Amino acid sequence: MIAFDGVVKKFGDHVVLRELDLTVAPGEFVTLIGPSGSGKTTILRLLMTLERVDGGRIYVDGECLTHTEKGVADEKHLRKMRKRIGMVFQQFNLFPNMNVLQNVTEAPIRALGLSKGEAEARAVDLLDMVGLSDKTKAHPSQLSGGQQQRVAIARALAMRPEVLLLDEVTSALDPELVAGVLRVLKEIASTTDITFLCVTHEMQFARDVSDRVMMFDQGQIVEQAPPEKLFTDPDHERTRSFLHAVL
Ligand code: ADP
Repeated sequence: MIAFDGVVKKFGDHVVLRELDLTVAPGEFVTLIGPSGSGKTTILRLLMTLERVDGGRIYVDGECLTHTEKGVADEKHLRKMRKRIGMVFQQFNLFPNMNVLQNVTEAPIRALGLSKGEAEARAVDLLDMVGLSDKTKAHPSQLSGGQQQRVAIARALAMRPEVLLLDEVTSALDPELVAGVLRVLKEIASTTDITFLCVTHEMQFARDVSDRVMMFDQGQIVEQAPPEKLFTDPDHERTRSFLHAVL
């Protein structure tokens, strides 16, 4: 579902990703772990087309994201591909002037051309799934961080993405609100065929929900394995020292 083929990403002289190869299978839940600055978020931002590659190619479900037969992908191609990918950010990024229902219906109406009625029906189902059916008329400022993040999850799902990217989705939350958000994500991962690529510091969550965990350092995959292997019996000293520091 996702393939990075020799992807290079630089910021000025700083090479963040050096010919990175990475694949995620359809329906798989893959978590990226590793020290700050190792390039994890850059991978998500490239997929979300918030950044452009400096080399190599990225494919989504066999279709090239970064290039067309005419060369480097133009804005029209990127816009089309972007509809297939959802992202939930650390900062929830809800529209502050819209209520919860409007936050969830905005993109399906605008970008997918759904009628207001269709979009609202979809939103009501999703808000029910994230446990917020009683908050449809509330504004983001009236919600806790955990509730706002659950709206952001519903908003991403309303686009029916094939791929959902999760970037440190619990980092900005008070500790007592983390579990509710993770529970919702676990439920979605186990009941849909969405492919997940997740960056998190929540090692217990990574362990619970991932099919595969990739340990990153300096833009390279140090090792990758199912969580039961990677967290208990890693092959590399770099993984051991990282886990020792965070667990
Ligand atoms: P991680 O998510 O693993 O913490 P990032 O992907 O955010 O790492 O960052 C990888 C490296 O790229 C870091 O050294 C960071 O400073 C650098 N970087 C990320 N975004 C930018 C940017 N827009 N401009 C310059 N450097 C950046």
